[in-house]
Amino acid sequence: MASSNIVVVFDFDKTIIDCDSDNWVVDELGFTDLFNQLFPTMPFNNLMDRMMMELHCNGKTIEDIVEVLKRVPIQPRMIPAIKAANALGCDLRIVSDANTFFIETILKNFGIRECFSEINTNPAYVDEEGRLRVLPYHHLNQPPHRCNLCPTNMCKGLIINRIQDSFSCEENKRFIYLGDGSGDYCPSLNLKEKDFVMPRKNFPVWDLICKDRSLVKAQIYEWGDWEEQEKILHQLINKVSMEESALFFSAHEPLPKALPVML
Ligand SMILES: [Mg+2]
Ligand SMILES: [Zn+2]
Repeated sequence: MASSNIVVVFDFDKTIIDCDSDNWVVDELGFTDLFNQLFPTMPFNNLMDRMMMELHCNGKTIEDIVEVLKRVPIQPRMIPAIKAANALGCDLRIVSDANTFFIETILKNFGIRECFSEINTNPAYVDEEGRLRVLPYHHLNQPPHRCNLCPTNMCKGLIINRIQDSFSCEENKRFIYLGDGSGDYCPSLNLKEKDFVMPRKNFPVWDLICKDRSLVKAQIYEWGDWEEQEKILHQLINKVSMEESALFFSAHEPLPKALPVML
């Protein structure tokens, strides 16, 4: 059955793939020490842009980065699970503090890019020298977002609000949000009672939610491993679809009785 009123919003790192793509690239290309040294000195988004400059200056090419991104670990069931949710008619989107280059490269490599209607993340591009540039999602020439839960480069809660506002009330969209990081807490707070949040158990977003569950209006379904994530997501999609069809039938004429089969 098509579940056309479900919007599934995924964080990317440690929610779709089984690692943090930023750390993966830095570590796999051998720049962990420099990363750790610079980490306390600047915001993360600037640090990634800086690390891409360091890679470039040390002879690492875009092809080297792509090759590493193609080896990103993912739980094998994740790919068919995403394809299945898409085939059921769910509107799948990504909200991530990684960047467009990493996410697009990884999703295309797994053959699931077209399953997502939208990727909200920090813009990235390859400049004329072949260096990858990573920019903030919220442009620096715009007024600051003023959310004290989120880093200056990206407030995921604002992105969720924008997606919510893009639908009319009549569309009755219901959101399922999956995430693991502290940046996934702000959007969790912006979900409505009819929505669902799926925090990764024992990860920062789960710790934040558990501090005071009453602050989250959405229904909370935690997941501890990838199998559980797939199972719960599937169950929630089914649950919403059934509630939707029950509403549909109660709002229409009762079905005529089936005619007895003449033998
Ligand atoms: Mg994450
Ligand atoms: Zn925020």
